[in-house]
Amino acid sequence: MRPARALIDLQALRHNYQLAREASPGARALAVIKADAYGHGAVRCAQALEAEADGFAVACIEEALELRAAGIRAPILLLEGFFEADELDLIVEHDFWCVVHSLWQLEAIEQATVAKPLTVWLKLDSGMHRVGLHPKDYQPAYQRLLASGKVAKIVLMSHFARADELSCSRSDEQVAVFEAARQGLSAEISLRNSPAVLGWPNIPSDWVRPGIMLYGSTPFEEPHPLAARLQPVMTLESKVICVRELPAGEPVGYGAKFVTPRPMRIGVVAMGYADGYPRHAPTGAPVLVAGQRTQLLGRVSMDMLCIDLTDVPEAGLGSTVELWGKNILASELAAAADTIPYQLFCNLRRVPRVYSGD
Ligand SMILES: *Cc1c(COP(=O)(O)O)cnc(C)c1O
Repeated sequence: MRPARALIDLQALRHNYQLAREASPGARALAVIKADAYGHGAVRCAQALEAEADGFAVACIEEALELRAAGIRAPILLLEGFFEADELDLIVEHDFWCVVHSLWQLEAIEQATVAKPLTVWLKLDSGMHRVGLHPKDYQPAYQRLLASGKVAKIVLMSHFARADELSCSRSDEQVAVFEAARQGLSAEISLRNSPAVLGWPNIPSDWVRPGIMLYGSTPFEEPHPLAARLQPVMTLESKVICVRELPAGEPVGYGAKFVTPRPMRIGVVAMGYADGYPRHAPTGAPVLVAGQRTQLLGRVSMDMLCIDLTDVPEAGLGSTVELWGKNILASELAAAADTIPYQLFCNLRRVPRVYSGD
């Protein structure tokens, strides 16, 4: 059996959820498990968190239905609401909570016949300019939802574009836009994603929406004391399947992008970009083998990559390799490969997930 696998530590997931709670006194926390829980497996993650989580958030009804089919009874928020009005029947049937981010969705609710009133999270565009209602439309939309008779509860929400930049004033500007837009409305609010949970404790939020931090990755580029307490959930590992000794001047891998500057000992690892390891990781990207840090060499291929064993004599055929996890942080590899941990996790495929800690 191919030795590549992703170990998922559900105890660490619960620890990180509790850290989100601790960083948000008095707030409730929806665990964001969209995109198959950022590659960690939405059903298993939801099952591991269900006893303590206030609810879950996903991107679309397909993801929400998968959770319900697996027996998850907790509240589930659809972060983009419905894409077509005919999803409303299922939303009602399964008690999904529904973001309304656009006027067309508001109109669809007004025109729908719903068997039970909806829980709507009304989204304001406070400055990210992706989805969300324009501030001038916000209060009218709120009043129209109330008047429709089809809504039991409204939560006011918005989303930050730059909360991961700790010295950037844009989040405060977005809060000011949000506060102005919701003036006079006495509804619960939800603003904070992971970077705001960890880095912006003074921003109010009755509901927080932690995503990446649940999986143990920092959303920040710089060190941060709370982020330092996160525990990585996923360890992507494989084994050395071939070892070779090369003299100086020999090319390694496709395109001869790496040429040995000296005699070297090289390990071939069963891991490639078809597993989601970033093809753009450069020579020098960190890996761990036999407990020692070493480096990637040459181009990543589809199913294999090469690492430097020259200074790791204890490593050899069959040695375990950590591509990212508790030693090689996904954020560290992401920085080396010019991407973000979110994308590393979401790109995971082919590799079997092995769970522990539930
Ligand atoms: C994905 C998402 C989140 C979670 O973001 P993280 O940065 O992973 O914490 C929160 N809110 C919304 C609206 C999202 O789409």
